Amino acid sequence: MQLTIAHDMESLQKALTGPAMAGKRIALVPTMGALHDGHMALINHAKETADEVVLTIFVNPKQFSANEDFSKYPRMLKSDINKLDKAGVAIVYTPPLEDVYPDGYTTTVSVGALGDILCGKTRPGHFNGVATVVTKLLLRVLPHVAVFGEKDYQQLCVIRRIVTDLDISVDIIGLPTVREADGLAMSSRNAYLSTEERKIAPGLYEVLSSVGNTILSGGVGIKSALDQGAAALVMAGFKVDYLELHDAETLAMADNLDNPARLLAAAWLGNTRLIDNIAIG
Ligand code: AMP
Repeated sequence: MQLTIAHDMESLQKALTGPAMAGKRIALVPTMGALHDGHMALINHAKETADEVVLTIFVNPKQFSANEDFSKYPRMLKSDINKLDKAGVAIVYTPPLEDVYPDGYTTTVSVGALGDILCGKTRPGHFNGVATVVTKLLLRVLPHVAVFGEKDYQQLCVIRRIVTDLDISVDIIGLPTVREADGLAMSSRNAYLSTEERKIAPGLYEVLSSVGNTILSGGVGIKSALDQGAAALVMAGFKVDYLELHDAETLAMADNLDNPARLLAAAWLGNTRLIDNIAIG
């Protein structure tokens, strides 16, 4: 099927209701574009689990605060579309702001406390912005499945919460983080890193892995392991936002390994904020 490019809701609806999509199982892959191999892994999985893939590219202003990188976020629509065409995506929906938030728009989807911890502490309002746009995209496309990356683990938990709480009938699939050869989690924001910062950046995953091993080995307590990890990040040149262990499902803070846990970190290298996480137990 040839790639259909939809720039507004009307053309999206036309493409979704056309004969080519009739009776098909549809997978949605929401993105902000500047597509890399992490995104491509989501597309490949989406193709395996559904008949047709709808991918959205929308840099959502509601998930950026005033001092963040909304205006400088990488936008490379032409090369993205090229990749999507080759990857066999059916529809790419790339709306302008006013198509998603027309004049008079006021509604926000709020996920409450789940959006206030971890990244929500330093990015107030971020997860309400994510929740709002993902809800709108799910309702516009009405896919059977929607595919997200574990790279943004808190986001994945937020989205699972929304579809449960709002009775949205869609299967949410979370896929493992795709990494560069040196372990750095792929991210469109990696393009911001200077040559020097790029050399340091894999240290985030190295520290996560080593703290994870320390916690699993039980040699020192969880708090000491986290403190040592934060100190190692500072030594490597990061400014630590958080390094915390949380319940893998509820994201409640974890001080033991009774349930599957997730070790999550956010840290700055210069002006670039990197996030990463790994499963523990
Ligand atoms: P973004 O364009 O950064 O908003 O990401 C769009 C989707 O791709 C989200 O579900 C992300 O979690 C996912 N994603 C981003 N980077 C990676 C990665 N390195 N591996 C797997 N999924 C990713």
